[in-house]
Amino acid sequence: MTHKSALTTITQSLLISSALTLAACGSNVEDGASSKPQALTAQAVDTAAILNAKNTPEVWLTYGGSYDEQRHARLSKINTDNISELGVAWTYPLATSRGVEATPIVVDGVMYVTSAWSVVHALNAKTGEEIWVYDPEVSGEDAAKGCCDVINRGVAVYSGKVYIGVFDGRLEALDAKTGKVVWSTLTVDKSKPYTITAAPRVVKGKVLIGNGGGELGVRGYVTAYDAATGEKAWRFYTVPNPDKKADGEASDAILAELANETWGDKGGWVTDGGGGTAWDSIVYDEVNDSILIGVGNGSPWNAKIRDPEGKGDNLFLSSILAVDADTGAYKWHFQTTPRDQWDYTATQTIILANLPLGEDGAVRRVVMQAPKNGFFYVLDAATGEYISGEKFEKNMTWATGLDDNGRPIENPAARITSGEGFIAIPAPSGAHNWHPMAFSPDTGLVYIPAQTLVQQLQDEPENVTKNMKWNVGYNLAAGIPPSYPKGTIDFIKSTASGKLLAWDPVTQKEVWSVDHETPMNGGILTTNSNLVFQGKTDGVFAAYNASTGEKLWSQQVNSGVQAAPSTFEIDGEQYIAVATGWGGSWAVNLGVYWDEAVAPDVGHVVVFKLGGEGAVPEFTPSNIERSPKTASFGNEAQLALGFQRYNDNCMVCHGALVVASGVTPDLRWSQMSADKLLWNEIVMDGTLSERGMLSFKNQLSVEDSEAIRAHVIDQAWLAVNNGDAKSPAN
Ligand code: CA
Repeated sequence: MTHKSALTTITQSLLISSALTLAACGSNVEDGASSKPQALTAQAVDTAAILNAKNTPEVWLTYGGSYDEQRHARLSKINTDNISELGVAWTYPLATSRGVEATPIVVDGVMYVTSAWSVVHALNAKTGEEIWVYDPEVSGEDAAKGCCDVINRGVAVYSGKVYIGVFDGRLEALDAKTGKVVWSTLTVDKSKPYTITAAPRVVKGKVLIGNGGGELGVRGYVTAYDAATGEKAWRFYTVPNPDKKADGEASDAILAELANETWGDKGGWVTDGGGGTAWDSIVYDEVNDSILIGVGNGSPWNAKIRDPEGKGDNLFLSSILAVDADTGAYKWHFQTTPRDQWDYTATQTIILANLPLGEDGAVRRVVMQAPKNGFFYVLDAATGEYISGEKFEKNMTWATGLDDNGRPIENPAARITSGEGFIAIPAPSGAHNWHPMAFSPDTGLVYIPAQTLVQQLQDEPENVTKNMKWNVGYNLAAGIPPSYPKGTIDFIKSTASGKLLAWDPVTQKEVWSVDHETPMNGGILTTNSNLVFQGKTDGVFAAYNASTGEKLWSQQVNSGVQAAPSTFEIDGEQYIAVATGWGGSWAVNLGVYWDEAVAPDVGHVVVFKLGGEGAVPEFTPSNIERSPKTASFGNEAQLALGFQRYNDNCMVCHGALVVASGVTPDLRWSQMSADKLLWNEIVMDGTLSERGMLSFKNQLSVEDSEAIRAHVIDQAWLAVNNGDAKSPAN
C-alpha cells in the first residue's frame, strides 16, 4: 500500500478506537454583594453557608463553587486591566504522573485538594505550606478496575469534616483539622468493578455519592449517607434490578412504573448491570428541593448486546434525573440519548440558572447541560420539561437534530447496521467530557470545554475474548491499522481538536470560540471581572475576555491541565488556583498525542496572584530510551492474533498503536518486552499486580500472550522504520 492510499484508508476509518475512547444565580442572592474576610470556618460550613456561597466569594465551598455549580465567582481584584500582572504565588507538588482532576476547595485559609489515588492534601491557601496529607492506600488491584486512570475530582467540606470518595468505593469523612478518619463506609459491592472518582456533595446533612464502572459492567446508583455518622439514608438505582424485582430502595416505585418495561429480559445488562453510573454530576436545586443526577452510558455500550430482545429506551441511561433531596423519591427525568449505543453519558456538568425563558421573557429556573452527545439542553428545573436544545458539535454524525420534545432524530446507520461499522462524531469520549463548564450571569454565556473526536464503532468479532477490563461490545481494534506509514501519527493528531466555546443558552447559539489543538482541555472558571480561565493539555493556562474570547494572559504550567480552577481571597488579595497533572482516559489510551513520556512528578497545585513572582517547577525529563529492546519475531498469523488480542485487552491502558503517554509504560521500549519469561510472568502470573497490572490468565492463553509480545515488538520496529524512534545503540 502506498503512503497516500494508506492515509486515505485511515481517513476513511478515521481512527481510532482510542480514547474511548470523555444567573442569575441562586434566587436567594442579591447582586452586588461585597466580599468579606475569610471568616467562615470549616466547622461553620453547612447547607445555609453553601446556599450563601455567592455572597462569600472569598472562599470556594463546594465542587462547582455553589450549589448551582455555575463556577462563577464575584471577585474582581484580578481583572481585565491588571491581568498582565498575574504571576505564580506558590506551587505544591502532588508527586504524581497520573491524572489530576480536582477543583481545589478553600475555606478558612485552608485549601483541600486531591491528587491521583484519592490522596487528600490540606494546604495553607496563602503559602502552599502543607498542613496534612491523607492517603487512603488504594490497592493496585482496585486501581485496575478504573476505565480512565486513578483520578479524583475533589472533596466536600461540611461541619468540620472533609469528605472523600475513594477510588475503591469507600466514602470517608476526615477531620478537617487533622485529616484523621472520622468514619469510613464501603458504598459498593467489591466483587464488582465499581470505582469512585467524583467529588461528594453535601446537602442538608447528607453526603451524596455515585460511582463509575460502566465500561466494565456494573449497575449504577446514587446513595445519600448521614454526614455525621456515615449511616445510609437512601439509595436510588438508575437502571432496573436484573430480575426487575424491588431492591427495597428509593428507586423501587419508579423502576416498576416506568423503567422496567424499557428493558428486555435478557442480555448483557442482566449479567453485568446495565451501566447508568452517576460518576460525576450530582447537583442540589434548593428552589425545588431536588437532587439532579447526571446518569451515565449503557453497559455494554452496544445496545444489541446489552438488551438484544428489547426495543425500549433503557431508562434511565444517559438521563438527567431529579429526585427528592430528603427521600430520594423520583421527581422527573429527561433522557438525552434514548437506548444509548455510543457511550453518550449525561454525567456532564449540570448548571442551574435563572434565564429569561418564561412567558414574556420572565425569569425561569432552568437546568443546563452539554452532554457527550453534542447537544446543548435547557430544561425547566421544576418539571424537567424540555425548553430548547441545539447542536454545539456541528460535525455530529449520529443524529440530525432534535424533535419538538428534545428527542434526537437519529441517523439510522448510527445503530451499527453494517459490518464496516459507523464513524461516530462525537466519539465515545464525547463532544464534551467531564471537564466542568461554567456560566457567567454577567455575560449570560455558558463556557464549554468542547471537542471534536471521531471514532469507528464496529460490532465485536465473534472470537473476542471476554475482557477483564473493558466490556463495551465493540471491536476495539476497529479503525486501528496494524501497520502504518510515516506521518500517520501526525495525521491522527490532526483528526481531533478542542475549543473553548462560549454558548448563549437563551438563543442556543455560539457567540465566540477559541480553537485548541488538542481535545480534553481543562475545566472553566469565570469571574465577575469579565474573565474566563482555562488550562489546556499542552500546559498553557490562560485568561480570556468573557465577552469576546480575546486571550488576555497565559502561562505555561509545565504539565497538562484537565481540572477546573477555583478562586479565593485572603488578606485582600485574590488568588486563582488550579491542579495540574497528566493521565485520565485520554492520556492513558492516546499516547500518540505526546512525543515524550510524561515525567513522574508532573502534577502540581499552581496558585496565581497579582504580582506573584514564583515559578512553576520544570518536570524531570524521562530517561526512557525509545528503541526496540529485541529483534522482531512472529509470522503473519501470530502478529494478526497479537494485534487483535492487544486491542481487546491492553490498548485501553497501554495506548492505541502501542504508543503510551507514559502514565503506563510504553511497552515498545520496555525491557520486559524483550524477555519471554519475564513477559509471561507479568501477563499470566500477575507479578506486577500491586502496581495495577493484574494477571490475564483467565482472559488469555500463553499463546495469546506471546502473540501480543510479538505485536508489541513489531510496533517498536515499525516506529524505527517510520523515523519515530531510534535503532538500538549497538
Ligand atoms: Ca463511559
